[in-house]
Amino acid sequence: MQCLIYNERIFMKQSSILLFILFAAMQLQCSCLSSRSTIKKNEYGLAVVSNKREYRKTTSTDSSRKMVALSSYLKPMNTDWQYATVNNFTKQILYKKPDAYLRMEAAIALQKASEELKTKGLGFKIFDAYRPYSVTKKMWSVVPDENYAANPAKGSGHNRGAAIDLTLYSLQTGKELTMPTPFDDFTEKAHHDYWQLDSLVLINRQILKDIMVKYGFLPLATEWWHYYLPNAAHRFELMDLNFKEMKKIVK
Ligand SMILES: [Zn+2]
Repeated sequence: MQCLIYNERIFMKQSSILLFILFAAMQLQCSCLSSRSTIKKNEYGLAVVSNKREYRKTTSTDSSRKMVALSSYLKPMNTDWQYATVNNFTKQILYKKPDAYLRMEAAIALQKASEELKTKGLGFKIFDAYRPYSVTKKMWSVVPDENYAANPAKGSGHNRGAAIDLTLYSLQTGKELTMPTPFDDFTEKAHHDYWQLDSLVLINRQILKDIMVKYGFLPLATEWWHYYLPNAAHRFELMDLNFKEMKKIVK
């Protein structure tokens, strides 16, 4: 009998703990959803975080959602900002003085991937990370084709701080590894299922894919350089803070 009462007490205690966890999780979800619903919708009906106050609202309950400077996670950090030059598919300067920002979850994953790459004598070279929503609109105004640019009616993983464009380079020589195409080449050659390539190129593309997938990123079938976090559209808001504003926010 004593044993029965004892077990009953344990059961009650465990049930209370479970109920408490469930309640806390519901509260967290509610606070996330309510903070999203207070953000003004744009012409496409999308909630786009466009100031510091909205950013704080959407990140205060979960630190992994915060935006961080990738330079604090990747050392050394190698970049090639083609969108800050006219050397890109739009032939226009799309932004000035960029820096690499991502959600903390993505930055931590990339840091782990980078540490493993170092043991192979390799590093990441970043072409683009977080991209303000207004830049996506600018790209679309020049090239309104979903084969080449993200439709602002949907937004891009880059606008959510959850996508990155990158390649590999040798830490010893500083030279990029040869990949199937240059960055932003929109031919079939850039597709992951394009196999008529030199065996060394196939190996390089596979090294990049393997390391990114291992640390939680998904590949984009049509662009060997683009990787993103799963379910980004449901987990992270679109953002339209420029690089200057972002620099202040991540401090
Ligand atoms: Zn991309």
